[in-house]
Order: sequence, then C-alpha cells, then structure tokens
Amino acid sequence: MTISQVISKFKENNPKADTAMLQLAYDFAVKAHSSQKRKSGEPYIQHCLHTAFVLTQIKGDLETVVAGLLHDIPEDTEYTLAEIEKNFGQEIAVLVEGITKLSKIKYRGIERYRESLRKMFLAMAKDLRVILIKFADRLHNLRTLDSLPLEKRQRIARETLEIYSPIAGLLGIYRLKWQMEDICFKHLYPEEYKKLEYKYEVEKKLEHNQYIQKVKNTLGAKLKEAKIPFQITSRFKHLYSIYLKMQKKDRKFDEIYDVFALRIIVPNIADCYKTLGIIHSLWRPNPIRFKDYIAVPKPNGYRGLHTTVFGPENSPAEFQIRTKEMDEEAKYGIAAHWYYKIKGKSDDDARQQPAWVKEVLKIQKETEDTHDFIKQIKFDVFHDRIFVFSPKGDVFDLPQGATPIDFAYTVHTDIGNQAVSALINDKIAQLDQELKNGDLVEIITDKKRKSPNRDWLKFVKTASARNKIKQNLRHSVLDSLKRYIPKI
Ligand code: MN
Repeated sequence: MTISQVISKFKENNPKADTAMLQLAYDFAVKAHSSQKRKSGEPYIQHCLHTAFVLTQIKGDLETVVAGLLHDIPEDTEYTLAEIEKNFGQEIAVLVEGITKLSKIKYRGIERYRESLRKMFLAMAKDLRVILIKFADRLHNLRTLDSLPLEKRQRIARETLEIYSPIAGLLGIYRLKWQMEDICFKHLYPEEYKKLEYKYEVEKKLEHNQYIQKVKNTLGAKLKEAKIPFQITSRFKHLYSIYLKMQKKDRKFDEIYDVFALRIIVPNIADCYKTLGIIHSLWRPNPIRFKDYIAVPKPNGYRGLHTTVFGPENSPAEFQIRTKEMDEEAKYGIAAHWYYKIKGKSDDDARQQPAWVKEVLKIQKETEDTHDFIKQIKFDVFHDRIFVFSPKGDVFDLPQGATPIDFAYTVHTDIGNQAVSALINDKIAQLDQELKNGDLVEIITDKKRKSPNRDWLKFVKTASARNKIKQNLRHSVLDSLKRYIPKI
C-alpha cells in the first residue's frame, strides 16, 4: 500500500479536496514509525496506510483519514499528541487522542472488557469518527492476525465478534462488519470455515452462476420493456452469516436457500416498487419473506425492498431492490450519511451526527435483535456523563463535575473512606478537583484512616458518594460515643 493509493481513493469521493495534508501526515508517520516493524515483519507504516485506506473506502472525511495515518503515534512512538496538534491542528489531535484513549483499555476478562468498551464507544459517540478509525485499525489488525500466536489470535477474534462487529452493525456499516466477521470466523472455527468455503467456491459457485444468469436474463428483459434503467449484481452471503444460520436453525448448507442474493439498483423509489411488481408477476413470492424497509426502514436507517421468490426451476432467489443512495447507505452506514450530508449541506450540518446516532440508538433499543447493552443504558443520561480510567484500565462513568472522591466511592467504599489524595493523569490533584472525560485517576489511601471528611459533602456530585459519606460519618460518631458509654 502506498500513500498515492490512499490519496487517489480519497479523491474519488472528494474530487475537489486539497490532499496536501494527507501527504504531510504520511511523511510525519513515516518519520515517527521509522524504526518499527509489525509482527509480520512489514514496516509499521503499512499498518497506518492500510488503516487510512479502509477509511477512504468507507468515505471518511479528510480529518478522519489523516487521523487514521497518525493514529498510533502518541501510543507507540516518541512523538506526542502535542506535536500532532502543532502540526495538524486541534480537530485531528482530538481524533487521535480518542483512539489513544480507546487503546488504554486493557483486556481483563471478556465481561469487564466488553462493559468498558461499550461505555467508551458510547462516550465516543460524541465524535463517531473515532470509532470509524478504530474499526479500520481493527480490520487491518485482523487481516494480519496470522503472524500472532494462536491464543492471542483467538482472543482478538472473539473480542471482535463480541464487541466490534455488533457495533458496526448497529451503525449500519455492514461492509466492515462482514469483513471483520469472516476473518474472525476463519480464526475461531478453522475447520468449519474451510468446509463452508469449499462448498461455496467449488461445489456451488458454478451452479449458482448459471441460475443467476437465468434470473438476470428473464428479469432484465422485463425491466427493459418497462423502461426502468437498472443494474443487477449478485453476491454470495458472507460465510459467517451462513454459519450462524446453520447453527441457529440446525440446517445444512443446501437448506440455507438465501446463500446468494440478487441486488437490483434502480433510479428512484417509484422504480423500486415497479421492479418489485415485475418480480412478483414473474415468480411466486414467499409472503413471509417479503420486507418493505423503504416504508418502514430498519432502526439503523437501512432502506430497501426484500423479497424471496420461487424462481426458475422453483428454486428460491432473494432480491434486494434499492436506489443508488440506499445502496451506499447500506454499505457505509453512518459514514454514508455523512457523505451525503457533506455533499448537500454545510460542514456544520455534517457534524450534527451525535443527535442522529442517539436517535438510532434510542430506536434500536426497542427492537428485538438489539444487543442487551442498549437496554442497559439510558442514552438520555449520556451527554451528562464522563468516563474516567482507573490505573488498571477499567472505565467508570460518572456525572459531569464529579471529583476524585466520587470516583473513589464508585470504585469501593473503603477507598472512599480512606482517601487522602489523588493523582489525575499522574499529577497530584485536590480531592475536589473536577474530573474530565478520559482522565486517568488514582486514589491514594491511608489504611489507618477510618472515616470520611465531612467537608467532602460540600463538593461530591454522586448520590452514592454522598450517602456513603453520611453513613460512615454516622458510624464513626457512634463509634466515638461508644467509648464514653461505660460498659456494664
Ligand atoms: Mn493501530
């Protein structure tokens, strides 16, 4: 991968953009990572280029792609975030900082890790571009998994299936979701993967191709008659989704009848319905499998008409009918919305993403295929929350304005009661200092200390810290009183 490939891909979506910054970022990254190699032996800069390239594929804006090139610099090289800010400005520095913070979360058992990541991802919903960069970074890491030891490979694959791919789906970025999932599938279930791949590539492909050609010809002729300009593409479903279906429904490969689907792109919504009518007049539809996602889009914004018909020789065929715009949205999800917004409106409008995301998440909450994490979290609470790290990499969410004492009581009552001072980002801080999103907080305790300080009640923000302080003060008052009560 070269920087000119990244630049030319970027220009496809942004023909008028000034790409000088991409070259500068590349030069800077080359310098910063000059002595480093990936586990595979490749120069480190390849990872930066691939990450940036994936971002151009999902139509990331200039800042996103630049940040993609720079994303590992503060974490892995001698160069600091301040230097990035000096050279590339605040916006890009904020994106890189977001990535650096995400990578600070350490793996400590899948349950806690997942909880942490969920929180972080949601916090980062403030600027979704951070998440897009993280996805691109992860995708390239997955593609180069082969050079890692088995255990680490499986750990990363599992993590991706449990955390990254559901979030990519949630955001509607199916292209990334599927790519990530198939790689993970290959590493976690190599045997099953090989079997399915063989069926796909060798046994079924020719048969399917002939079938698809028949369908294409019949339908194509009718669409021409109706004067509807169209594009038909066929695609095989990705292997991991077939595997899941076989597992869920306990069926064999041959029984999964929608392993391939035909996608028809037509100019506008009226044409979508006309095309649907033509398909249904040619072949008998299976009513259970007809979905009108144009009238009722999926919660993540996905639109299109889906129908499965009993096609030639009575074999089932799945059709997806979309306009060009819907098709782009389906591939790039949130990133596509950006793209269209930026094209149509001012940059300010394009940055209005968080509200939209919140809306998506809110609706997603009410649907059945939602992951439980959405249910657990009240999104309306989120913009008033901050996320801070413990020295071990755990993430705690606190209300805005929270102090080290609030943090201490959130971690453990004893830590609260015994707190004497705090380190925020390795610097000594007052116990009433306001914490900021992403701060690393360490509480210094004194084991001999038995009770909290009454003055803390003046500044704590969380109800639980307040209650615990009051409770423990009461105890200590009782304790001291007891000393004066003569024993009988
Ligand atoms: Mn990276």
